[in-house]
Amino acid sequence: MCGIVGYVGQRSTAQVVLGGLARLEYRGYDSAGIAIITPGNALVSHKRAGKLSVLRDDLATNPLLDGTTGIGHTRWATHGPPTDNNAHPHLGDEGKLALIHNGIIENYELLKRELVEQGETFHSDTDSEVVALMLGREYRDTHDVSTAMQRVVARLEGAFTLLAVHANQPGVVVGARRNSPLVVGLGEGENFLGSDVAAFVAYTDKAMAVGQDQIVTITPDSVTVVDFEGKPANATPFTVDWDASAADKGGWSSFMAKEISEEPEAVANTLRGRVGAGGIVTLPELDAVLGDSVSISRIIFIACGTAAYASMLGAYAIEKWSGIPATVELSHEFRYRDPVVDASTLIVSVSQSGETMDTLMAVRYAKEKGATTLSICNTQGATIARESDAVLYTYAGPEVAVASTKAFLSQVVATYLLGLYLGQHNDRVSAELSAQLAQDFEDLPDQLEEMVQTGARIKELAGWMADTRSVLFLGRHVGYPVALEGALKLKELAYIHAEGFAAGELKHGPIALIEPGQIVFVVVPSPRDPSSLHAKVVSNIQEIRARGARVIAIAEKADAAVLPHADEVIAVPFASTFMEPLLAVVPLHIFGMELAAAKGLDIDQPRNLAKSVTVE
Ligand code: GLU
Repeated sequence: MCGIVGYVGQRSTAQVVLGGLARLEYRGYDSAGIAIITPGNALVSHKRAGKLSVLRDDLATNPLLDGTTGIGHTRWATHGPPTDNNAHPHLGDEGKLALIHNGIIENYELLKRELVEQGETFHSDTDSEVVALMLGREYRDTHDVSTAMQRVVARLEGAFTLLAVHANQPGVVVGARRNSPLVVGLGEGENFLGSDVAAFVAYTDKAMAVGQDQIVTITPDSVTVVDFEGKPANATPFTVDWDASAADKGGWSSFMAKEISEEPEAVANTLRGRVGAGGIVTLPELDAVLGDSVSISRIIFIACGTAAYASMLGAYAIEKWSGIPATVELSHEFRYRDPVVDASTLIVSVSQSGETMDTLMAVRYAKEKGATTLSICNTQGATIARESDAVLYTYAGPEVAVASTKAFLSQVVATYLLGLYLGQHNDRVSAELSAQLAQDFEDLPDQLEEMVQTGARIKELAGWMADTRSVLFLGRHVGYPVALEGALKLKELAYIHAEGFAAGELKHGPIALIEPGQIVFVVVPSPRDPSSLHAKVVSNIQEIRARGARVIAIAEKADAAVLPHADEVIAVPFASTFMEPLLAVVPLHIFGMELAAAKGLDIDQPRNLAKSVTVE
């Protein structure tokens, strides 16, 4: 789950690598390190536990000799605590080779025993160090990092992106990947490697996605790709459509604040060019795979965390609009329970990064069973996107804050587009509904902008609640995933107990949690909703209020029925049922952020978390 950067070229390697790490720090941030080959062909390196700033501060007072070849790493510890020694790079060949690793080497214990028997000494508790020592030994034999890498990867089990440099091979960085991400940035007289394009987007928009089980060697003027047997292989070129400024904070106090402010634009970008006259959805990227949607008997979404909540809304919408049964499964549960998946199953995986390991593994499992796979993803060239039969990009722009916000909204909208596309293909969606939804989509960015403006009031509320130890969230139907999302944001950001419940569950248990002063956010359906849900949720509010709860209702403007029963009402513009959750979630995103701010916590990089969960 770490960030990886490699560079060869004429620029200051220290600057390129540290700059790239800063852009990737969201991926993991408990330690950081760098290794550089100096012009005198020496390998210099430095690594520190803590955030990247700790390493940067060290290097500001004691700079390393700069050079033209280097690698850098931000760690998210899996094996061994975040200490200076466990930080990457790890060294081999008596300090002449440096290695960084993203992932987990599952057979490291066996390899470690062998290396110890061969007289090697370990300086860390990580699984990664075995690779550094093995590579060092193979280098002594082959005098070439790429050939040494081929020999080493043949012995590794698990997930890895590896980058290595050797003092005797200046101007060369070698990378290898299995199940973890690696992309190449193509420059003029310089080349880059990164966990994702954010690592080098400041320098080039030309990129290549390294495939599964491939080894890449970059020099200033060449990029060579081979498979794990050493046979020539192809990586997939693409152009990056993010500009560098999109990954900068641009004056905001945090990436999360910036990304919440971008929620309206993210949704507009997801919709752009996809809804035509009369609400007809065009998704040419899906036509080859789903044009004949009658062959799909059911849809299973696979996702984790926030993406799973987005998927719940997608499943509700798709089933309603297309009549195709749709359910959601957590990726990490899915493949272990031997689910019934066959050629008539459409698997829709949802992952912002497109690298979520649990989801990738579930996609592979489904493919083996003959299912059609579609991914909804935000990052070009991502592994899940490449391994799926079709991909629906969300175009939300880079999301850097660990807690997902704008990506959630764009995922929901992408699932809605999918639902409408399927429903229009199998003639289940009426012309009226298509036209109505087209209008809803058009109104959405402005309505979201209105919700973003609730920020000042939410900040006040969060300020009063800074000491609260527990917050509950209730919602029903489309409000339920919103409740879950609101609760997850508080866990992630404010480190307090938070639970989201389906309001209908209240009397089946959770109401016992209500005691005087308990804060409960309630997502209230529109009173205009033809179902009778509004009245039921208002009754729920009265039930918990009668037991002392402090109710903050997120309710439609002018919902007079809620006012007498809520301590606070956050007003949502009029919207149709499936648009309501998109509006209601914005204040909850803001609340999570503001409560973390009120508690003095790190908003963009909450403890113990990393943005892309690239290990299982
Ligand atoms: N498993 C390695 C470690 O614990 C790499 C973790 C990562 O991907 O950052 O050091």
